[in-house]
Amino acid sequence: MARKKIIAGNWKMNMTPSEAVELVNTLKPLVTTEDADVVFCVPAIDIIPAIEAAKGSNIQIGAENMYYEEKGAFTGEISPNMLTDVGVKYVIIGHSERREYFAETDETVNKKVLKAFEHGITPIICCGESLTQREQGITIDWIRQQIKIAFLNVTAEQAASAVVAYEPIWAIGTGKTATTEQAQEVCKAIRECIAEIYDDATAAAIRIQYGGSVNADTAAELFAQPDIDGGLVGGASLKPDFGKIVNYK
Ligand code: PEP
Repeated sequence: MARKKIIAGNWKMNMTPSEAVELVNTLKPLVTTEDADVVFCVPAIDIIPAIEAAKGSNIQIGAENMYYEEKGAFTGEISPNMLTDVGVKYVIIGHSERREYFAETDETVNKKVLKAFEHGITPIICCGESLTQREQGITIDWIRQQIKIAFLNVTAEQAASAVVAYEPIWAIGTGKTATTEQAQEVCKAIRECIAEIYDDATAAAIRIQYGGSVNADTAAELFAQPDIDGGLVGGASLKPDFGKIVNYK
C-alpha cells in the first residue's frame, strides 16, 4: 500500500496564542488536500486555541515536545496525558534544537518515543548529522546509530506507525536545503536500517520526512523521491507559503 505523505510544520518558539489562531485561520482554506496528513506542531500554550481554530479543517495540531514521565515534580514539562486530553496525536521528539540547547540525547529520545507510543501519540522522531559529520563521511553511520537507539524496545507494529524526520543540522534554518540526492540517500538508508531492525513490511510502512529549509520551490522535487514521504518544515510553516508546500503537486 502506498504510504500517505505527511507534511508537518514546526513553529518552534514562535506565535502567541492569538497569532496562532490568526495563522491557522489564514492557512485553513489552503489546506484542503486529502493526499497528505497535515500537522502543525505548535508551542504548548498554542495547542488548545490552535485545535479550536483548526476545527472543520484537515489541519491536525501536534506538540513540539513531551516528557517521558507520567506526572510529578518536573517543573515546566508537558506530560503525554496533557496532550492526549486535548486531542493531540503527534509529537516531535528529539529535534536537533532540543538536543543542542536542552541536553536531549538518543537515550531520552528513546524514552520519549516509548512513552508517546504507550499513550497512542505518533512520534515524529528527528535525526540528522552536523556539517562536520557530513564532511567526515560518517553521516550514514551516525544516522543509523540514532535510529537504532531511538527504536530500542519499540515493537514492529509501533515502528510501522512512526514518523522519522531526517533533518541535516546544517540545513535547518540556514536556507541551505540538502540536494534531492543527499536527502533521498539518507532517507533510503533509514528505511534500510528499519528493515534490518524489524522487517521489510515495517520498513515499507514507516513514514520518513525530510526537513531542512524546505520551501515552496523545493518541496515538489524532494517529496517525489521514493523514500521521502513528506517534510518537517520550520520557517516556511509560519507563512501562507506553507499552503503551497502542502499543495506541492
Ligand atoms: C525544523 O525546524 O525542523 C526545520 C526544518 O526548520 P527550517 O525549515 O526552518 O529549516
